[in-house]
Amino acid sequence: PTAAELVDRLTRVQQDFPIPGILFRDLTPVLADPLALRTVASALIAQHGPIDLIAGLESRGFLLGAAAAVLAGTGVLAIRKPGKLPGDILAEDYTLEYGTARLELHPADVPTGSRVLVVDDLLATGGTAAAACRLLERAGAVVAGVAVVIELVDLDGRQALEGRPFSTVRQY
Ligand code: 5GP
Repeated sequence: PTAAELVDRLTRVQQDFPIPGILFRDLTPVLADPLALRTVASALIAQHGPIDLIAGLESRGFLLGAAAAVLAGTGVLAIRKPGKLPGDILAEDYTLEYGTARLELHPADVPTGSRVLVVDDLLATGGTAAAACRLLERAGAVVAGVAVVIELVDLDGRQALEGRPFSTVRQY
């Protein structure tokens, strides 16, 4: 089976989570399946050029990003929610449908000019991935691309990425 077929087959669709009216696509069954994890992690890196590092976005992006990094032969960066990283950090705020959110990064882990692939489970409005890209660029990296497992096309999140290379395994 292809990566897209495995995502289709294994993703759990949950109505009214985390709040009423939201249709949540849960990828934990994909991660729990050995063939799906390997196939999807491989698909995340397949459509991008040479990369030096992978950045995983908390939390599911950590699991996917680490699996993809082992396959790509790179290290992995943790882009985290506020207050989790000790020491010198960079922070980037972004707007959500209701309120704001923040992502943080250890810039010392990012060699200047390194080509970084941003990995997450799902692109909705694109706000999260765009904030991660800005953080990495402020840290001196070049964003080689953004790779997600699922793209919710109606929300047009690609537009928020402002022309940075983008790939997805499955669109809904
Ligand atoms: P965005 O910033 O693109 O609007 O939202 C994407 C972020 O929210 C990602 O980090 C993603 O994990 C999370 N997210 C939003 N909707 C869903 C969903 O239906 N399923 C999952 N797994 N994550 C979601």
